[in-house]
Amino acid sequence: MTKTYFAPGRVNLIGEHLDYNGGLVLPAALTIGVTATFTKRADNKIVLRSATHSFHNQIDLSDPITFNSKNDWTNYPLGIIHQLIKEGHAVPACEIIFNSNLPEGSGLSSSAAVEVLTAFMLLSQTESNINLPWLANFCKQVENEFIGVQCGIMDQFAVAMGKADHAILLNCSTLEHSYVHFELNNYRLLILNTKKPRSLIHSKYNERKAECDEALRILQTTSSIQHLAEASMSQIDVIQDATIKKRARHVVTESLRVKESVKALRFNDLSTFGRLMNASHASLKNDYEVTGKELDALAEEAQQLKGCLGARMTGAGFGGCAIALVHHDAIPEFKHMLTFKYQAETGLNCEIYESQIGDGVREIKN
Ligand code: ADP
Ligand code: MG
Repeated sequence: MTKTYFAPGRVNLIGEHLDYNGGLVLPAALTIGVTATFTKRADNKIVLRSATHSFHNQIDLSDPITFNSKNDWTNYPLGIIHQLIKEGHAVPACEIIFNSNLPEGSGLSSSAAVEVLTAFMLLSQTESNINLPWLANFCKQVENEFIGVQCGIMDQFAVAMGKADHAILLNCSTLEHSYVHFELNNYRLLILNTKKPRSLIHSKYNERKAECDEALRILQTTSSIQHLAEASMSQIDVIQDATIKKRARHVVTESLRVKESVKALRFNDLSTFGRLMNASHASLKNDYEVTGKELDALAEEAQQLKGCLGARMTGAGFGGCAIALVHHDAIPEFKHMLTFKYQAETGLNCEIYESQIGDGVREIKN
């Protein structure tokens, strides 16, 4: 018997690069994502296929599993299988076929979707009440240790715990979370894809993490803070190195913006939230330096267009996607103008998607 499962992509509404700094983030799961079918096999093998990749892979469950770049995309599910076995979970022989309507490598967390989907699907064969925050943390560890990307918990948490029409306010150091109703009224959340390949992403990501670790180390010589996101503006004044100080300033100001955003959303004040989105983008551009020409062109042009309350990059940056809040009546002209202006500035054709905010990982029952 074949079963089908779904894990969504996610956008982070605000609170960028705060997860690995122990801060507050505000992601939301999307209605676009990755699906997979699970079919049990009678032998001892796992076969991995994807409709979006020609490479496929087969492993024997009794063989050791290690990361190997030759395994291409299958490293993500292999990392999950490896860790499940290591922690003593039953992993059934099976064939898994992934399919997706989520752009890959665009900052919408397709990697987290594949990880969470694989873990949820495999565990569902033997366990009924899967603890989703635990599952998110498990998948994050796989991305950190097996894949080698030092991401925080946000992506996997949003993919696992998403709730339709709600953002998730998540404290990344304690995993305390609450849902914030995201009432769009006459506005829509648009996803703007730069279509720029993100070649630098993994190394730059790890570089920013190291810079933030250094900022925290400096602050801890005079204070007892545990995470950089707890620092105040006056505290970061002691940092001498201009680059490290800028990185810390982004973390501190972005943390304040998340709190203000939640307040604004609770009052259904989308205009204020839009202004905070714009300020977040500026901070990611000037202080954190993770945007790049394409994301700047897309977000900044969007900010100027009629009917747009705010726009910012989302995800790790260096290409990938931005998000914009746009009045529904203005969407056709917004799409037309933005495509034209972005093409003129960068020579690239952007893609623009309208997505709703959807639920987290689940089985799709026919
Ligand atoms: P993001 O998570 O922002 O989409 P990443 O670079 O972290 O970007 O992850 C993208 C990678 O995840 C892809 O290059 C591929 O290896 C894997 N991936 C994502 N979706 C799928 C899919 N549907 N099938 C197979 N692999 C996928
Ligand atoms: Mg990813």
